[in-house]
Formats: sequence, structure tokens, C-alpha cells
Amino acid sequence: MPQGKIVKALSGFYYVQDGERVIQCRGRGVFRKNKITPLVGDEVEYQAENDKEGYILDVYNRKNELVRPPISNVDQAILVFSAVEPDFSSVLLDRFLVLIEANDIEPIIVISKTDLIASSEVQKSVEDYAKDYQNIGYQVLLTSTIEGNSLDDLHPLLDEKISVFAGQSGVGKSSLLNVLRPDLGLKTNDISTHLGRGKHTTRHVELISIGTGYVADTPGFSSLDFTGIEVEDLTYCFPEMKERSNSCKFRGCTHVKEPKCAIKAAVESGEIPKYRYDHYLTFVEEIKDRKPRY
Ligand code: GDP
Ligand code: ZN
Repeated sequence: MPQGKIVKALSGFYYVQDGERVIQCRGRGVFRKNKITPLVGDEVEYQAENDKEGYILDVYNRKNELVRPPISNVDQAILVFSAVEPDFSSVLLDRFLVLIEANDIEPIIVISKTDLIASSEVQKSVEDYAKDYQNIGYQVLLTSTIEGNSLDDLHPLLDEKISVFAGQSGVGKSSLLNVLRPDLGLKTNDISTHLGRGKHTTRHVELISIGTGYVADTPGFSSLDFTGIEVEDLTYCFPEMKERSNSCKFRGCTHVKEPKCAIKAAVESGEIPKYRYDHYLTFVEEIKDRKPRY
């Protein structure tokens, strides 16, 4: 049976891309007995009735599954944070990173609008943040759609992967996509259009092909609460804590009040940035309270 990837879902039809062709499919098959609803991003087995139409027969196991937007098998998230307008927020970045790590998605951090940096203090602060996140192991790109820096580096990172863009509205997600796919002509600076956040929970999602990869046309992680994440999971969402936590005296150490904690020691010695640890503590409290506080 032929196989393909669902690139669009609309009005009960699933559009399955198989090489160059896109087959409009309805669902029919064993997966329906298992109450599985096909999602954009799914790898499926289908049967073609003719050149354009067919049926989905089976949905392969998913690597992961996002709720908003509904999309599966996401490999990476391009996390866009502007240097200014709006100002860079490391606590918001860390919040996104936790959600992305918890979903087993690879984050790529883009600090955008570098052309708008007006003082050497802001320049230094942005560079210091970039270094910190690189030290943790994250890929960080400093971009400007005006001056063009790092835009050539972004394109190949999308190859062979399903990516979602994420980040507050107004940070430049649509502008970056427009550079990557100029023919799309996305409107910028208008949150009610394509890439605006939270405006279209019922809207359909579509995967846009860029090079040999795909990008969701709707930003990911439009809900930023920690539902489903427990305090014990948080350590694994901070890569710089993962390894080190093996050296904590107590198994299951939450790195808050326990003695002989390797994480607190690493914060004191400056190996872990203090602000990252402070955000961790904020998130621990939030998870204990289960109330979003931002
Ligand atoms: P989105 O809401 O994240 O999709 O953000 P947009 O792409 O719509 O951008 C919001 C505003 O920022 C628009 O007015 C863009 O022209 C502007 N913008 C985006 N990227 C840059 C950049 O690199 N430099 C400057 N100066 N402005 C930018
Ligand atoms: Zn500890």
C-alpha cells in the first residue's frame, strides 16, 4: 500500500502528500476502531481510487502530538524571540522551552530584530543570553529580516523535518516565513491573519513545504500552561540540570530545599545561570499551585 504524510485537514478530507502528488482522502480503516482521528503530520497508509482521491487505511504511530494547533510528529520548534519590540524575555523563553522539551521536540532559538538594537547595553545583554543558551546546548540564531543576518542558516535547518514556529505575536514569525517562502506573501503585523496567536483555534492547519521540510502555518504552543507536566518532569526540561541531577544526594531531589543538591551547587559556582534556576523555581511553584502566573 502507498504511504504518505497528511499535510492538510479540511472539512472531513485529509490531504496526503506522496512524493509530488497530493491525494484527497477520507478516513476508512482499522484506525477508526481505535478512535484515532488522523492529524496533520501523520504518516499514513492509503489507497488511491484515482489520481486525486482515495482513502486513509492506517495511521502510523506518532512521535508526539500537539493539541493547539492539532499536529503530530513535530520534530522541532523555531522559537522566535525579538531582541526588542517586544523586549527579550528570558522567563517567557524558558516557559516555551519547558513545553517544547516536555513534548520531545528540538528547539531552535531565534533572537530576531537585531537591527533594532539601539544601545550597547542591550547588544551585550542579548549576546550574553545567546551565549548562555548555547552553553546549555541550544542552537541560537541572531536574525534580522532587514539586515539579513543568519537567514541563510535557518533555511537548511528546516530540511527533512516538521517544524513549528512559536513565540509571542509581533516578534517576526511571519516575516521570517516570508523570507523562507517569499511566494506565500504572508501579511505581517496583523495578528488576525495567518500566523497570529490564539485567534483561530478552529482554523485548519496546513503544512507548508520549505526545501525538503515542512513548517506548520499556525504557530505552536499557543497555550503556555504546564498541564500534564509534574515537578519531577521539570529537571528533564532543563538540559543543564538533567545530567547534574544524578549527583544530587537524594534520588528524586527537586533542587529546592534538599541538602547536598548538585543543581544548587552549580548555580552557586556560576555554571548554571542564576536566572535559569530562578525560573525553574517559579515553574515548580506554579506546578504545585496549578495556576498560570504571568
Ligand atoms: P509575528 O506576529 O510574530 O508573525 O510578527 P510579524 O512577522 O508580523 O512582525 C511584526 C512586526 O515586526 C512587523 O511590523 C514586521 O515588519 C516587524 N519585523 C519583523 N522582523 C523584523 C526585523 O528583523 N527587523 C525589524 N526592524 N522589524 C521586523
Ligand atoms: Zn538537587
